Amino acid sequence: MNSCSRKDLLEDVFDKFLQGPGIFQDREVLRPDYVPSHLPHREEQLKRLAGILAPVLKGSRCSNVFIYGQTGTGKTAVIRHVLDRLIHKGHESGAPLEACYVNCRLAGTDYRVLSRTCEALGLEIPFTGLAVGEVFDRFKAALDAREFLLLIVLDEIDALIKMRGDTLLYELSRANENLKNGRVALIGISNDLHFKELLDPRVLSSLSEEEVVFRPYSAPELRDILFERAKLAFSNGVLTDGVVNLCAAIAAAEHGDARRALDLLRVAGELAEREGDAKVTDDHVRHAQEKIEQDRVVEVLKTLPLHSKLVLCGIYLMKQAEINESITGDVFEVYTELCEHLGIDPLTQRRVSGLINELDVIGVLNTRVVSLGRYGRTKRVRLGVPRSVIKAVFTDDTWVGRVLTYVPKCLQHNGAR
Ligand code: ADP
Ligand code: MG
Repeated sequence: MNSCSRKDLLEDVFDKFLQGPGIFQDREVLRPDYVPSHLPHREEQLKRLAGILAPVLKGSRCSNVFIYGQTGTGKTAVIRHVLDRLIHKGHESGAPLEACYVNCRLAGTDYRVLSRTCEALGLEIPFTGLAVGEVFDRFKAALDAREFLLLIVLDEIDALIKMRGDTLLYELSRANENLKNGRVALIGISNDLHFKELLDPRVLSSLSEEEVVFRPYSAPELRDILFERAKLAFSNGVLTDGVVNLCAAIAAAEHGDARRALDLLRVAGELAEREGDAKVTDDHVRHAQEKIEQDRVVEVLKTLPLHSKLVLCGIYLMKQAEINESITGDVFEVYTELCEHLGIDPLTQRRVSGLINELDVIGVLNTRVVSLGRYGRTKRVRLGVPRSVIKAVFTDDTWVGRVLTYVPKCLQHNGAR
């Protein structure tokens, strides 16, 4: 009986989906990795980059290029488009040219960035085990042997430099000095506008022989981008102009981020589809905005390091004991008890203060410094995200899930302070 009614329930969902109005014609077009063939409002950047890179078609090295602009301003889409076309043209005319695109944030280490560039030359590099210097030597030897010109795109280079320093970039920018036949040209892309300040001046001057800036999109520009994509993605008549305008306006008010605008449109469409509605409305867009924000928080919470999760769990338990705002000393006490309960060595109070600051920066906690008169100052901490979200995410966590219902002894005796 039970399983039968469950089946009907699911049948219902599936049937609704199959027989529904069909919100999407091709939802893949709204996915983040889709590369559109037409990029409105980036004509200037497309032309400049094509102009800068064109000499490689005649076998000359082009200038290194440094591209920067905030997230979602089309940097990745534009460079991928230019590279595809350039390599295609190069192969047609037999130019000794290859390109290698690496997302440095995803690669994560100098070693992996370098192995990706080696792969572009047909070299296989073991997953680990070699010194970076050794990989670099093999890379240069392979490049020289083939008399290639290799265009290396280092996307999100700012993330790598912040984690690992600029040694790799320094070595790559000097690579041509030691090459007899092969040549490299670098294209660095950064989401962080202040990234230049992190670079050694020699690296900076080499990398930014040319600079191309991507400014945020305005609301009307975002609208054009969304309209083009929406025509391909949605079935006829399900979208009103108002919906597209609202997505454009919301994304423009943040920082002109096309990814954000496209996400809003996709999630709004998915919500309409799930609810079996025939049209996507402004309400769907507003719900999409809330859902995206909540998903972001969940992702942040899930990927926190263990000790940060335990600190947060401590504050969650304090809130559970009706302590809305706690001082850092008490947070440390609860945190230590949780560590002991789990058999983990606690960090020092100083390190925990550091973790609290980091959690504040990413918005998971709110802290404020209060004066205790002649006893100095302390920090008061409260949760920056709903308790229900923390509970939902941490319940599934192998470690933190085990202390989520724990009642700390230090809270039993003292009650709320
Ligand atoms: P960035 O690399 O600057 O963070 P992306 O190139 O990844 O930004 O762009 C984010 C999203 O917006 C991608 O899905 C991309 O296809 C789309 N996009 C950005 N600019 C345009 C444009 N001018 N025309 C069409 N789609 C665009
Ligand atoms: Mg990008």
